[in-house]
Amino acid sequence: EAKAAGRSQLCFFKNSMQERVFERVQLEGDLRHAIDNNELILHVQPQWSVDKKIIGAEALLRWHHPDRGLVSPATFIPIAEETRLILPIGNWVLRMACQWLSDWQSNQAMETFVMSINVSAVQFSQDDFVSQVEQTLKEFDVPPNTLQLELTESMLAHDEGDIVRKMQALKSLGVLISLDDFGTGYSSLSYLHRLPIDQLKIDQSFVMNIERGTKNASLAESIISLGHSLGMEVIAEGVETSEQFDWLKDKGCDLFQGFGLARPMAIGDLLVLCESVNQQI
Ligand code: C2E
Ligand code: MG
Ligand code: MG
Ligand code: MG
Repeated sequence: EAKAAGRSQLCFFKNSMQERVFERVQLEGDLRHAIDNNELILHVQPQWSVDKKIIGAEALLRWHHPDRGLVSPATFIPIAEETRLILPIGNWVLRMACQWLSDWQSNQAMETFVMSINVSAVQFSQDDFVSQVEQTLKEFDVPPNTLQLELTESMLAHDEGDIVRKMQALKSLGVLISLDDFGTGYSSLSYLHRLPIDQLKIDQSFVMNIERGTKNASLAESIISLGHSLGMEVIAEGVETSEQFDWLKDKGCDLFQGFGLARPMAIGDLLVLCESVNQQI
């Protein structure tokens, strides 16, 4: 009987594996058409200054799947990376951001607004990545210092010389560079100071329970002083409560992003919010 139970369990396991593989293959196929079918949407989450003005936003992908509804980037970005579909998708994100930045040049409330976009390691490692950014900025006639690229610490783990050269090339274009999810990777401090990074983004895992003086609190505080000592701006992500905001502000954090300030939203809603928030005297 135990044997039978074991067998049925094995069978169950096998089925669920098959289902997962099947689901994955299906998602992969669907993702190939997502751009052309206009199923990808770029939401934006505002970034706030200490005095609660909106100074920029992070672009975050959403996939409206025709049958499955909203698919999270946590599910489809890894698939997009493995299949290299992240290359056309990432290019679409870059173009979208530049289109918006270009539109805003005639809008006084938005002309210094900084759009941050996430760049995957697969994209960054392409030989033509820097020239793609350069071409797109030119095509849309966008001031380079209004575009910020969010790179992650993990992509710094590879060929050091190549990464430094690429980041310097991006810097000489004038675009801004942010290091996302900072503190979760393993970049060495001696390496960090040689990179032309404008902004450190404290990972949201360190912001949790920060106001209760946990280990997170001392880590977040160290990241703020590290960033400042290297001449970088520091932003906290995942700010959910006013206690967290106040705590981070008190420790000298420069910028804030999180559900407690605003959730990711459609671009039209961001414009309305900016007009109402930034024009108050
Ligand atoms: P990320 O770049 O670290 O983005 C921050 C994530 O935290 C977003 O999740 C955002 O919605 C979420 N978040 C913001 N504020 C809060 C908060 O107060 N509390 C909590 N719990 N979460 C908060 P999202 O949109 O699901 O994106 C997940 C990840 O997917 C991103 O992490 C990024 O790594 C990736 N991703 C999203 N869009 C793109 C893209 O266009 N290109 C690439 N390569 N990756 C992307
Ligand atoms: Mg990000
Ligand atoms: Mg992040
Ligand atoms: Mg994160």
